[in-house]
Amino acid sequence: MVDVIGGPSLPQERKLVTSIPGPKSQELLARKNAAVAAGVGVALPVSIVAAGGGVMVDADGNSLVDLGSGIAVTGVGNAAPAVVEAVTNQVQQFTHTCFTVTPYEGYVEVAEKLNAVTPGDHEKRSALFNSGAEAVENAIKIARHFTKKNAVVVFDHAYHGRTNLTMGMTAKNMPYKDGFGPFAPEVYRVPTSYPYRDGMTGAEAAANTISAIEKQVGANNLAAIIIEPIQGEGGFIAPAEGFLPALQEWSTKNNVVFILDEVQTGFARTGDLFAANFEGVVPDLVTTAKGIAGGLPLSAVTGRAEIMDSAHAGGLGGTYTGSPISCAAALATIETYEKENLTERAREIGAIITEFFTELQKTDDRIGDIRGRGAMQAVELVESGSTKPNPALTSALAKFAGENGVILLTCGTYGNVVRFLPPLSISDELLRDGLSVVAEGLKANA
Ligand SMILES: *Cc1c(COP(=O)(O)O)cnc(C)c1O
Repeated sequence: MVDVIGGPSLPQERKLVTSIPGPKSQELLARKNAAVAAGVGVALPVSIVAAGGGVMVDADGNSLVDLGSGIAVTGVGNAAPAVVEAVTNQVQQFTHTCFTVTPYEGYVEVAEKLNAVTPGDHEKRSALFNSGAEAVENAIKIARHFTKKNAVVVFDHAYHGRTNLTMGMTAKNMPYKDGFGPFAPEVYRVPTSYPYRDGMTGAEAAANTISAIEKQVGANNLAAIIIEPIQGEGGFIAPAEGFLPALQEWSTKNNVVFILDEVQTGFARTGDLFAANFEGVVPDLVTTAKGIAGGLPLSAVTGRAEIMDSAHAGGLGGTYTGSPISCAAALATIETYEKENLTERAREIGAIITEFFTELQKTDDRIGDIRGRGAMQAVELVESGSTKPNPALTSALAKFAGENGVILLTCGTYGNVVRFLPPLSISDELLRDGLSVVAEGLKANA
């Protein structure tokens, strides 16, 4: 049945043998349209049969450069050998018990590991879940239980997921929220720091944000502030230096739980194991998912023992939360980040991307901003001679990239950001090849 085995031994090349999507991919797309709910869209309709290193291979035999990692998930690479081995061993032992019925070691080991590697050296506890949204929901549950307060502060351009609470916490209407309300109450949105567009220092932006919180919510009603240290879906917006530390300090002073949503930024992606480390910010709680388990579904809330332990026994859980298979994958994944020094690799990847677009920007002023950290980089596209968002160019570029064998993701509140999230297992050569296709796309759409 399997005729192509994934993993890093796949030929690391971009190779097109049909147009994209090829006939077999088109066949799958037709079946998908007849069988799968229309709301489940696809960015690039290629039928993937194997992936690894920095490529994805489709059913027609095309080999595409992966600049998305399935949205920052396969940091260690697709079908990473250590993950495959750990998962294979675990499924032969047992596949499920429900941890809250009968526990097992893998879950506890992942909790111990998360407590050790997340920011801060205070005493911590962890709880495991399935998805990023579920981790965010539980972080809010825990913060409310601990503070006995209700309100939650979120930010412009924020993304926290697709469940009812996290949809309400997410900023962008289309496609995430439109027609899906009503949303949960007691969620308040305040301005963030967006250096390219607001021109403020971190201190100025923080003063502005804190003033909005105090005037519109009030610290005595506020359970938690939750923020992505670099906003993901919102456009890879890194706040100006000083913004996050100021929010953290204010939260601590006001008995507000300060939560960092590191679902996208976590696990070596930004050139540090966590983006919080960049400014030495220590959150009370941190949510993680995506890069945690090499592609298997797992998420976590990790944080101060006194906060995490405040919820009563039985208050947190779920049938599949902390699946033994996902836990085995997570342990192998986290060990791989450390063993292969992938934080360093993320910084190298970031330098290549930054240098590439800085050079291009000299002759193409539609590249408005180049930003990000490590292997989480973005280019904000604008109309020539202005800072006006250019979503048309952005979608044309993603389309051009797909047709030429490069999986390229977009994001941003204004739909005008191309983002680069390659697996950390990609080679320099393949990365540069992928970037050259993006440059060709800019030329083709001049
Ligand atoms: C992807 C994402 C989520 C939601 O994670 P899911 O696993 O899709 O539920 C939450 N927060 C951030 C910052 C994300 O990038």
